[in-house]
Amino acid sequence: MSFTDKLIAMKVLKFNEGELSIFGIPGFIFMANTVGILNHNMEKRFGKDGIDLIYLLGKHQAYMGSSAFLGKYGYRKDLNSFNMVIKQSEMIGQGKSEILKFDQKNKILILKNLNSPVAKTIRGLYGIQKKPVCDFYRGATTGCFQAMFDEKNDFLGIETKCIAKGDPHCVIEVREITSWGKDNHLVKEQSPKESPENEEFSKFTLNNILKPS
Ligand SMILES: [Zn+2]
Repeated sequence: MSFTDKLIAMKVLKFNEGELSIFGIPGFIFMANTVGILNHNMEKRFGKDGIDLIYLLGKHQAYMGSSAFLGKYGYRKDLNSFNMVIKQSEMIGQGKSEILKFDQKNKILILKNLNSPVAKTIRGLYGIQKKPVCDFYRGATTGCFQAMFDEKNDFLGIETKCIAKGDPHCVIEVREITSWGKDNHLVKEQSPKESPENEEFSKFTLNNILKPS
């Protein structure tokens, strides 16, 4: 039985009156094409600000969702739970992930994505890209990992390889923001600017996503 089948059997993945929810959190499904086109055009029109928003939204969504999952079922914050969280990322269609490094002590994660649908879409529609493009997945991976620690830790995810660039797979590395070297060109390119939207996202707490008005 697949992870998704189990969730349906456990009635945590529900379809009711045109509404979809998982763990009580309302959801919405996009085509991978839509996400790829959105990603590409957010950058084209708004430059790095557009990419920052997509990254921060991914980070926020995954942090909230992972915290809800871990809290609701009382899972310990360890590799086993992280594997479950990653299965959810696969369930929503972000591609198959493989953990290359999960170092809780030094707070480092390296995750490989074997078939990122967004990267494949962007490569297919717009050709080989000069830089990594999986900004939502990069944010989501960062948020999932951040949920394994307490609230004072803040993490930054960097995509070091991407299928859209012609690499055979995508790789995301997540570390505490303070432990990334500032001279690293990928860190310069992918660190989000402080933004008022990020402050706004953080006001959307677990409580109000679980109980929408
Ligand atoms: Zn990628």
